[in-house]
Amino acid sequence: MANKKGRVFSGARPTGRQHLGNYLGAVKNYVSLQEEYDCVYCIVDLHALTTLEDFHLLKENTAEMALDWLAAGIRPEESILFVQSHVPQVTELHTILSMFTPLGKLTDLPTFKEKARMHPHNINYGLVGYPVLMAADIALYKADVVPVGIDQESHLEFTREIVRSFNYKTGKQVLVEPQMKTTNYPKVIGTDGVQKMSKSLNNQIELALSDAETAARVMTMVTDPQRTHRNIPGRPEVCNVFTLHHSFTPAANVERIAAECRSAKLGCVDDKKCLAANINKNLVEFRENARRWRKTRITYGTCSPTAPSARGSSPTGRWTKCDRRSGCRKGRRSTMDHRR
Ligand code: ADP
Repeated sequence: MANKKGRVFSGARPTGRQHLGNYLGAVKNYVSLQEEYDCVYCIVDLHALTTLEDFHLLKENTAEMALDWLAAGIRPEESILFVQSHVPQVTELHTILSMFTPLGKLTDLPTFKEKARMHPHNINYGLVGYPVLMAADIALYKADVVPVGIDQESHLEFTREIVRSFNYKTGKQVLVEPQMKTTNYPKVIGTDGVQKMSKSLNNQIELALSDAETAARVMTMVTDPQRTHRNIPGRPEVCNVFTLHHSFTPAANVERIAAECRSAKLGCVDDKKCLAANINKNLVEFRENARRWRKTRITYGTCSPTAPSARGSSPTGRWTKCDRRSGCRKGRRSTMDHRR
């Protein structure tokens, strides 16, 4: 922790492979913040139980997500990568914080209303309390900074309020009020061109796809709805394909693409082929890393109950490469084998 600016915490539900929305909206920051902060990244499997229908997928999804984060550049020698349920103290803090939470605040959150709409037959108690558990995650590790996409803004604001309320009512400045950190692309739109890219909406482009699969997904992307024919000039400012070029295509080419789209010199099909090629080019390193990590036996430790409120203490659930001679068989460690 020496010379670092403070602590970063973020988490995501293990819903499987990461997509461009996760990457551009959150994971890019997870990686870059490692330079300056003490980073703690968590696969929030307890949160996943609020909506998961097939519990058997949880273990595999957890492994796939860890693999993607490692491939994207999270360095386990330096940052902590762990599974939420391995540090049970979070559920204790969740219970305590729930006593500081007016119920109406939770049911008024747009994220709760949205989840209730999507899962009308499973509006469980955990779903209502989702933001309290998230606040407990962040507060437990006394995070100063939380990198997330803009969809998490109301949860972050809720966390800040609950932290203030807890500190005020207990008369102690025990918990840290965190700051939200977004990337320059806090809301990535999906292939439908309208909604947030999300696995549950099936409008995602996953990082781990092959070149051909990526191209096929990009070809399904909705562009400017007014451009119904090749010879109609396009409007790059309303086109999601064009927006994605900003993240994957060299700046000089982006300007040329905008001009050629506006003059109808460039058609949507060629534009998409160009975007797909550039996405694939940008993901070469990620995909090579993912292949390498998949061949690596990864272990994660079950956390011992360290005093989580003591700043500086850390969960012991670090993800490490497995060294069979010295480590993974000892103590309460368990092993995840990515090899197929
Ligand atoms: P969770 O349900 O735990 O939020 P998600 O997979 O939806 O899991 O999100 C993980 C992280 O990726 C969060 O920080 C979220 O804000 C971010 N994220 C997800 N989808 C997008 C998107 N389309 N654009 C930008 N950020 C996103």
